Amino acid sequence: MRAAAGRVNAAAVRNVIAGATGVRPIYTVWRRAMATHHTSRLLIIGSGPAGFSAAIYGARAGLKPIVVQGLQPGGQLTITTDVENYPGFRDVIQGPWLMEEMQAQAEHVGTRVMWDTIVSVDLSGSPFRAIGDSGDIYEGEALVIATGAQAKWLGVPGEHELGGKGVSACATCDGFFYRGKKVVVIGGGNTAVEEALYLTNHSSDVTLIHRRDSLRSEKILQQRLFAHPNITVMWNKKVEKFLGDPQAGGLTGLLLRDTISGEAYDILTEGAFVAIGHAPATELFKDQLELDEGGYIVVEPGTPKTAIPGVFACGDVMDQVYRQAVTAAGTGCMAALDAERWIAEREFKQHQALAAE
Ligand code: FAD
Ligand code: NAP
Repeated sequence: MRAAAGRVNAAAVRNVIAGATGVRPIYTVWRRAMATHHTSRLLIIGSGPAGFSAAIYGARAGLKPIVVQGLQPGGQLTITTDVENYPGFRDVIQGPWLMEEMQAQAEHVGTRVMWDTIVSVDLSGSPFRAIGDSGDIYEGEALVIATGAQAKWLGVPGEHELGGKGVSACATCDGFFYRGKKVVVIGGGNTAVEEALYLTNHSSDVTLIHRRDSLRSEKILQQRLFAHPNITVMWNKKVEKFLGDPQAGGLTGLLLRDTISGEAYDILTEGAFVAIGHAPATELFKDQLELDEGGYIVVEPGTPKTAIPGVFACGDVMDQVYRQAVTAAGTGCMAALDAERWIAEREFKQHQALAAE
């Protein structure tokens, strides 16, 4: 992933200074003195498909957007390899490459990309204000929140090492690569059941592994799951280890433990889909925007509009159902279009008020 041109990574500088001197207060004084104020008509937090799509549309509408990249420049697609379902590419493309292209396109049309992470926001009124980890201040007449969501992981041995080599958190994204192979899904909610059902498009041997003896997913999904001839459910089992060699062959199996009997044993599988929920990156906004029970930003249905005029949310941070690059890009486009309209209407009203004085 390319670094934002012409920018110093302030967080890295801070760590060097703090590490070299061991004196945080000196850094704090230095940071206050060095803080830069960045203003824009459109401020975008997040540099995944949603953020860069909003930036491309915002820039082409003349809003000169700023994108603050965050800790994962390019977003979730930078941690995967093959992407086969993003429209426009006949051949398989690589996630990190796609995100480099999106960033290049956004910059080409006039977006400023900042290497910083937002640590606090003030949404009390336009201009909306965000403070970066660098100490820099970012302001936007309108704000687009595109901070995404991260899949939750089990945190057991082998899971991280075999990620992308048999272990995945997205059947829609990766299921295709396990055609004709034995696969497992771990979890017992709607996502796990939907992933298991989806995987039957590619595999005739799908096993759902759940830690309890009942599912929490909707009854209708459960009925479809239990009726499916190619799905087996393993109850009361927890995964203790993902087995295999990341350098040769990838995932080969799982070490399971029965939660009732305590018995441990291995099963063979080449694909394991962890589906135990997602965590949207909304900590920053929880006191200022309405979040649903899953922590996702609540928007007006069918739009990216939050309850605060001028603040829009797009991509995985407001979407717990679809969670795809193309849907993130689509809602990013909608957010920029709505932001542009909101700014124009506000300006028009301000001009009218001035003319009336
Ligand atoms: P994200 O991509 O999650 O980006 C969020 C951005 O917000 C990041 O840049 C992050 O740094 C930034 N951010 C967060 N907090 C802050 C902050 N405080 N300050 C500044 N920035 C912040 N989808 C597909 O369509 N096809 C696939 O093949 C596919 N494969 C996948 C494989 C894997 C392993 C994973 C994890 C996901 C995959 N997905 C795939 C899903 C897809 O990646 C997501 O749906 C998509 O990336 C969501 O885009 P987004 O822009 O909403 O958020
Ligand atoms: P979820 O409902 O929170 O379910 C998570 C599942 O993973 C639970 O069964 C849980 O087990 C299990 N789990 C959690 N941590 C685990 C761990 N460490 N080890 C083993 N298992 C673990 O998450 P979700 O299924 O992703 O759904 C999230 C929300 O999105 C829900 O509100 C859901 O309705 C919604 N959603 C809706 C749709 C749809 O409408 N079509 C599709 C997908 C998701 P326990 O049951 O034992 O707690």
